[in-house]
Amino acid sequence: MTIRDIIIKYTEKLAEISDTPRLDTEVMLLSALGEENRLYLHINLNKEIDEETINKFEKMAEERLNGRPIAYIVGNREFMGLDFYVHEGVLIPRPDTEPLVEEIIDICSADEYRKKETIDIIDIGTGSGAITVSLAYYIKNSFVTSCDISEYASEIGKKNADSNGVSENTEFLVSDLFSSVEDGKKFDIIVSNPPYIRKDVIETLHTQVKDYEPYNALEGGEDGLDFYRRITADSIDYIKDGGILAYEVGHDQAEDVSEIMKGYGYGKIYTKKDIQGIDRVVIG
Ligand code: SAM
Ligand code: GLN
Repeated sequence: MTIRDIIIKYTEKLAEISDTPRLDTEVMLLSALGEENRLYLHINLNKEIDEETINKFEKMAEERLNGRPIAYIVGNREFMGLDFYVHEGVLIPRPDTEPLVEEIIDICSADEYRKKETIDIIDIGTGSGAITVSLAYYIKNSFVTSCDISEYASEIGKKNADSNGVSENTEFLVSDLFSSVEDGKKFDIIVSNPPYIRKDVIETLHTQVKDYEPYNALEGGEDGLDFYRRITADSIDYIKDGGILAYEVGHDQAEDVSEIMKGYGYGKIYTKKDIQGIDRVVIG
């Protein structure tokens, strides 16, 4: 079989379960070939593929047909232009989360932050380390403390910090919200993409989310807002005067989360939209 044959055959097959069958096919084929750039496929369409590579590819395609997310199959996902190792047990970083990171990078580019020797940031619920690592990477004078209740997530976050060269300005704590943070420590910026899916909605999620991604990364209680209430309440003890609390929120939660923040004395609250025009980020 040539590269072209495989792309045609599997784009058709994977269309049964995926919205992006051609991209999925190409990403798995590249991984089986040990190549990185899709251009390689396009300039080698007539190349015959050896049996070992075909076997590797077919094993991945089988997993994909069963619903396993492509990022877990190939073991990585790009986020904010950086490469993250991912595996079952950590949420796959989403483009939905990039506006939150971009907004914080933007805030930290202002003079008052640039002048600081260190901007102390804490990320609650780190998962793969997507937010922590990209903030530490793009904000050179930051130190990012990362908390996750999952020991495995903490390990993966650390691994991604190492591979992206930010182990010096990050630390990873296994922690129920702020519980492992040293007493008296205060932060310039508190950031979180907490679990925010309503309990009754989880069952309706796509197979590749509900059967493969960690439940603990998704479920936010009866109304989806449990973590916003808990984190906002606790944040008061850990935020510096004039500090910033920044959240990613679900598609219909911006108003409720703003109200929660107001209730704890946060002011200057504003939202940012994602690419679909949905209020996705709430800052106070
Ligand atoms: N920050 C990552 C991202 O944006 O891709 C992952 C976000 S995921 C929606 C939420 C994370 O919160 C999961 O990694 C989960 O393990 C963690 N988490 C859940 N309950 C927690 C708790 N009580 N304390 C700390 N982290 C928690
Ligand atoms: N955006 C994720 C999803 O809908 C949910 C992540 C979260 O709960 N923070 O699959």
